[in-house]
Amino acid sequence: TVVTRFAPSPTGSLHIGGARTALFNWLYARGRGGKFLLRIEDTDRARSSDENTQAILDGLTWLGLDWDGEPSSQFANAERHAEVAHELLANGKAYKCFSTQDEIEAFREMARAENTSTLFRSPWRDVAEEDHPDAPYVVRIKAPREGSTTLHDEVQGDVTWQNDQLDDMILLRSDGTPVYMLAVVVDDHDMGVTHIIRGDDHLVNAFRQNLIYEAMGWDKPVLAHIPLIFGPDGKKLSKRHGATGAAEYQKMGYPAAGMRNYLARLGWSHGDDEFFTDAQAKEWFDLDGIGKSPARFDFKKLENICGQHIAASDDAALLHEIKAFLAVTGADPLTDTQSHGLLTAMYCLKDRAKTFPQLLEKAHFVLAERPLERDERSDKMLDTVSRGILSELTPQLQNASWDRDTLEGLVAALAEAHDTKLGKLAGPLRAALAGRSVSPSVFDMMLVIGRDETIARLEEASA
Ligand code: GLU
Repeated sequence: TVVTRFAPSPTGSLHIGGARTALFNWLYARGRGGKFLLRIEDTDRARSSDENTQAILDGLTWLGLDWDGEPSSQFANAERHAEVAHELLANGKAYKCFSTQDEIEAFREMARAENTSTLFRSPWRDVAEEDHPDAPYVVRIKAPREGSTTLHDEVQGDVTWQNDQLDDMILLRSDGTPVYMLAVVVDDHDMGVTHIIRGDDHLVNAFRQNLIYEAMGWDKPVLAHIPLIFGPDGKKLSKRHGATGAAEYQKMGYPAAGMRNYLARLGWSHGDDEFFTDAQAKEWFDLDGIGKSPARFDFKKLENICGQHIAASDDAALLHEIKAFLAVTGADPLTDTQSHGLLTAMYCLKDRAKTFPQLLEKAHFVLAERPLERDERSDKMLDTVSRGILSELTPQLQNASWDRDTLEGLVAALAEAHDTKLGKLAGPLRAALAGRSVSPSVFDMMLVIGRDETIARLEEASA
């Protein structure tokens, strides 16, 4: 079975790039009945923190990227990593190197002077155990020095590296602690990872990691190094372009399903399909569809996709997500009346809203209570003439049948009686019913709030 993993370093919160890497791994596993594992690469003790780990888990949870089992800590496995280094030492695939920092520096200086490679060539590579001094040492892997290594990558194709460009990398430091490169390979092996999907900034690491796979004789996972994400200007995505943290998008009120959809399209494609469901994404996602060149983050496209997801959402699910959004932003929770109103109005709120704040702005008419607090534009709408006209409507609404056709008919007749267009009445009506210039249609509002509330608001506005 397929096993993928997301292996973030908790030196910051979850970024868009990391979220996309996680998503690709999640989609690949979930579409194949496989496992998606989470490994926290917390070996950099100075820069890692529990807060960052929690922020990453929260980000993944918001995005709905559920992982299998408990997240593992790379640091906690240090003993196992060291054990593998000792195994390599025991079978001659690695050696103890007693060169001091000064000696290595001297080597490099000489190399620079002679214009040869500055990659350190340890004199201890082939020295027998009995000739070893009683001194501190690091453990280095015996890397091949001739020929070349070709790795197949599902995105990059065959990538070749000259072996004389790799040094005998350190596996254990002189204090016996394992290096990151060793930890990654051992963990991936022990976790049974079959596919490594990660940023192409790790492509060179793949060659170093390959040395360890070779030396241990372990099965190698399939590799897929995905291009980084660029901003609209073709430069690496950064704060200059806009928000880069997943949590920022959550707080701006983008729906998680829209984020997943958009992030999936960022560097991967399935024909011309732009809008799709999770089920489709899981079914369609494949390494073949990942492009070789960096995708550009398109904020407009993200909004459009999010708008489509809001429109396509189930009303109750949407209400649930909006409540979670309000909680995350620290806003007041909805009262039961407001929740109920929002749910009733959802059908006319969810089209054309690209984010939850946009939807909530339109929902003011159902969230606010009388006396309605009106924005300036609405106030201006309610001039003396408009108020007069509105006050004529009120008695007619008393006994009208409460359906769209009847209501439209009444307002149209009123407009005609005043020799004006229906559109001219919509402004004051909207102002009276919503107190905002952004709202659903006046008839939808009347239907949602009902006869008594409609009359009360008209009376309040024409008073
Ligand atoms: N911890 C690495 C990172 O956050 C990922 C390493 C890997 O995926 O192999 O960039």
